Amino acid sequence: MASRVMAGEADMVDVLVIGAGPGGGSAAIHSARAGLKTVVVEADPSVGVPVHCGECLSEMAVQNLDLEIPDHVKALDVKGIRVIFPDGTEKLLTEPGYVLEKHLFEQWLMDEAGNLGSTLHLGHKVTSMERIYNSENQFSNWKIDGKGENFPIYCKAVIDASGVAGASSKLLDMGTEVEVIAGFQYEMTDVENDGYLDFYLWPQYSPHGYVWMIPKKGERANVGLVTTDKKGAIKYLDKFIQDTYLDGKPMVNPQWRDQSVKVRPFGGTIPISGPREVTVEDGVILVGDAAGFTSPLFEGGSHLALWSGREAANVIAKAITTNDLSKASLMAYEAAWKKRFPPYHKILKGKTALYELTDEEMSTMARCLPDELGNMSPFQKLGIGLKILVRKPALLTKKVISVLLSFGYSRAKHFGW
Ligand SMILES: Cc1cc2nc3c(=O)[nH]c(=O)nc-3n(C[C@H](O)[C@H](O)[C@H](O)COP(=O)(O)OP(=O)(O)OC[C@H]3O[C@@H](n4cnc5c(N)ncnc54)[C@H](O)[C@@H]3O)c2cc1C
Repeated sequence: MASRVMAGEADMVDVLVIGAGPGGGSAAIHSARAGLKTVVVEADPSVGVPVHCGECLSEMAVQNLDLEIPDHVKALDVKGIRVIFPDGTEKLLTEPGYVLEKHLFEQWLMDEAGNLGSTLHLGHKVTSMERIYNSENQFSNWKIDGKGENFPIYCKAVIDASGVAGASSKLLDMGTEVEVIAGFQYEMTDVENDGYLDFYLWPQYSPHGYVWMIPKKGERANVGLVTTDKKGAIKYLDKFIQDTYLDGKPMVNPQWRDQSVKVRPFGGTIPISGPREVTVEDGVILVGDAAGFTSPLFEGGSHLALWSGREAANVIAKAITTNDLSKASLMAYEAAWKKRFPPYHKILKGKTALYELTDEEMSTMARCLPDELGNMSPFQKLGIGLKILVRKPALLTKKVISVLLSFGYSRAKHFGW
């Protein structure tokens, strides 16, 4: 819908951020830091609740945000990821990071944005986005409407950080769809840890996905999974718990939930089809899950959301100084993420090849790998190829090299977590 009615300058904000998740928090911080008049609208009545995340985030993601996170949002400092294969073979991806109390992390991001001058409206859901054009038929600004007393809101630019809901893609009929995968977890107690996140690649318990034990201090842990079998997800998770050392350990309600309600799993959906074809249009930039940005193998998205939120804010700040918020001007954002993010299709190819392996093939491959997968030298990679050639040459025809590549791309420096 288009209109020629222009808002009074006094009512106009520079940036409206849709959604107060990590993408929205980062976008708001960096917009406000750049001196832009920034408003965030969040559909839920509070920030970060309900949590729909395993809550792990690499140290590198925190550094990329250009902020120091306070201790109260951290649930544990961790050493990295341990990948566990069907025969029990374990391999490490050692690199520092955190398990967060994600709701506290998101609330802290919003507080930081607020301290820099950004305004937050909770319980405000965007349901309509209307572009306003000037007398020369060029995009001028937005009229954003929705449920909540502060609508309509007039703004020069929108950063859509609405997560998997993809508000602007739907409302503006931007013509791109995303495929999703389901993820659920329980909070459990009495779960000991040695500082690693345990990721189980055991297809029998999570078809086309994996199971995790993400530890928190006080012997708490998020125990969950992602799988393409949405309907069977909870059944698979219960079976995994029943068949492993987790059997019989207490399940509890997470801190953010009313403690009187029945204990049940929590989670949501994650985009898995890669970046949306359109992440920029006149006056709008999509970030985080709303743009389809998740890491293909382990489905982490917070690092990508934080980075893209900052990049969107910086591109808009520059565009506002030249008074040109056209798609052409904002395309600098798309160029930036295309340059910085790892090659999605290559990683996806490795993931597909991984899930085509039988349990036995997966374990054989794992036994050919060094204990530490983090920084394999070209010499080590050659050694792995030779080992596979000797032990199970058929694996080489099953694109196992692309599987190894996708493990490499699951590291923090490639936005894996
Ligand atoms: C079970 C599970 C486990 C996961 N584990 C991890 C993990 O351990 N590490 C990791 O990095 N990632 C993980 N992820 C992915 C991660 O949660 C997301 O990638 C990340 O939260 C994306 O951030 P975002 O800001 O883009 O979107 P979100 O965090 O989804 O935030 C979007 C916000 O927008 C609001 N909103 C939506 N529509 C509107 C509207 N129309 N108007 C106003 N507000 C709106 C929503 O209420 C929400 O608060 C997991 C996901 C799931 C489901």
